[in-house]
Amino acid sequence: MSNGNKRDYYDVLGVQKGASKEEIKKAYRKLALQYHPDRNPDNKDAEAKFKEASEAAEVLLSDEKRTRYDQFGHAGMDGFGGAGGGYGFSSDDIFSNLGSIFGDIFGDFDFMGEGGRRGGGRRGGGRGRERARAGHDLGLSMTIDFEDAAFGIEKEISVMRSVECNTCHGKGTRPGTSPSTCDQCKGYGEVRRQQGFFAIATTCPKCQGSGQLITDPCKDCHGQGKKRHKANLVVKVPAGIDNGQKLKLTGEGDSGQNGGPSGDLYVTINVSKHEFFERDGIDIYCTIPITFSEATLGTEIEVPALKGKISVKIPAGTQSGKKMRVKNKGITRLGGYGIGDQIITIQVETPTKLTNEQRELFEKLANLERKDKDKIRSNFNAHAGSGSGSNSNSNGGDSSNSSGGIFDKVKDLFT
Ligand SMILES: [Zn+2]
Ligand SMILES: [Zn+2]
Repeated sequence: MSNGNKRDYYDVLGVQKGASKEEIKKAYRKLALQYHPDRNPDNKDAEAKFKEASEAAEVLLSDEKRTRYDQFGHAGMDGFGGAGGGYGFSSDDIFSNLGSIFGDIFGDFDFMGEGGRRGGGRRGGGRGRERARAGHDLGLSMTIDFEDAAFGIEKEISVMRSVECNTCHGKGTRPGTSPSTCDQCKGYGEVRRQQGFFAIATTCPKCQGSGQLITDPCKDCHGQGKKRHKANLVVKVPAGIDNGQKLKLTGEGDSGQNGGPSGDLYVTINVSKHEFFERDGIDIYCTIPITFSEATLGTEIEVPALKGKISVKIPAGTQSGKKMRVKNKGITRLGGYGIGDQIITIQVETPTKLTNEQRELFEKLANLERKDKDKIRSNFNAHAGSGSGSNSNSNGGDSSNSSGGIFDKVKDLFT
């Protein structure tokens, strides 16, 4: 027989007859890493050793094949593995046939360096149809009110996502029928092409990696195994969320396939502008107009807050643009630690339309101010001597900045 000079599988892997699967895997892993063609380009000897070890592992890791081998030796292997007669493998399909062993032993380790094996290491081996696939992540955006961002809200949203078809339970086949194994990849979902000693793996173009061809598709999902489904979800938006932040809803994305986990749903929050408040982090800002007389004489005003109103004292002589900070009237920090402030900008409004009575009062005021100015200026001139010009009215023109500054200082002396 041609099998006469074949080495004993246990000898090939260097393990005892009663070796456990773990020991076999460990031994094979070591040899495979050592002799893999990718690591030994143009080395026929390494390739032969790699194939020999792979064949031994393939047999010894299969309960059925191992029992048969233990009973009958190499002779018992005839007819197993299909194409290659007594050898068990043809060199052409060795890499595709090894898919299950590699998946099992190397997991997601990217042995071939092309990423083609991803997902093959999951429980169940590398066969395309058994692969668990995680569902896609989904994203959508949601607009909420300013106050809702500040205090948190529960809001219902609907999302279109892909779910398993419940007629065929994700199989894609009409109930009562089963898919046929893809003839191009023989069910492995990927096609390996030998280029020199490099094995290039690509997703099977015929079955798109599923390893199966659906000849009698499910009527409900047209063989997709999944359907678009509109789901209504309640999103819990936490207090303190800000514009542009994302919430992750674990497992609310597309369903996984073959027991794979569902994807996640990311909800991007858009916070509507407020008619009155602006926000910077956890602080809120607003502008409050007060009248000229309120600014001059001082008053107490009511200012809208996130909740209700707050009373703010405006001191006499408040200038337009003055900022007042009210502690702890801002937004709760996301997560609950700390609270921001409300910052109020005072805007003194210059009246535009006056009643006759108001006009008279302002004119009276203007007269008083004029007298004040004359008094200040004559004092200023007396102090400054004759140099800087006695005609104060036209003086502002040429050196307004410096004379203004001095003027202010002088004014301070008299007030
Ligand atoms: Zn279906
Ligand atoms: Zn295929």
